Amino acid sequence: MGQIRERETGRPIEVGKIVAIGANYTDHIEEMGLQVPERPMVFLKPPSSLLHQGEPIRFPSTGRVLHYEVELGLVLGSTARDASADEGERVFSHYLLALDMTLRDLQEEARELGWPWATCKGFDCACPVSEALPLKSLDAVRDVPIRLSVNGEVRQDSTTSNMIWDPARLVEIVSSHFTMEPGDLLLTGTPAGVGEVRKNDVIEASLGDELAVRFEVV
Ligand code: MG
Repeated sequence: MGQIRERETGRPIEVGKIVAIGANYTDHIEEMGLQVPERPMVFLKPPSSLLHQGEPIRFPSTGRVLHYEVELGLVLGSTARDASADEGERVFSHYLLALDMTLRDLQEEARELGWPWATCKGFDCACPVSEALPLKSLDAVRDVPIRLSVNGEVRQDSTTSNMIWDPARLVEIVSSHFTMEPGDLLLTGTPAGVGEVRKNDVIEASLGDELAVRFEVV
């Protein structure tokens, strides 16, 4: 099973499932030429896709077009089942920075065939993460700069306040479909500027002043 690590203590947190949200930033929806959907799109990534700082992103053999998506990740500290948004305010124990790596060519094929996103979003190395920081209140992550650069060139530069459905609302929606459990990781969507990386590229990303990561594609 995949793990994340608490930064201050090095304590491992076992990750049960990774729940990810598509199209949750207004600026990203505009760049993709999409309409704001009535409800957020929910998908899963397997815990085996987790990758930690210092480990390389191995370019998958199954696709050709590998894209980065920088995202705020939130770790469940308690169970949420049919939770209200108000309850959603209090279920998270930690936050981190995550990359929702995506094989865009496989995703296009899946869209055309009406197939799920398991392979284009779930391959090994598809979820590089930072260490996790304790979260006292969601207010601490509601308006935080979120940035990503490739080889030193800024590609994504937004703020978490551009989310359409905020994390508490996402808990309400996701937990109406299935139970969210302690250790589950929620990825909250990516802002504008997604794009391609190739072998030997270096991805650097940051969330506020507290979290920064660097990953090399090999
Ligand atoms: Mg994403």
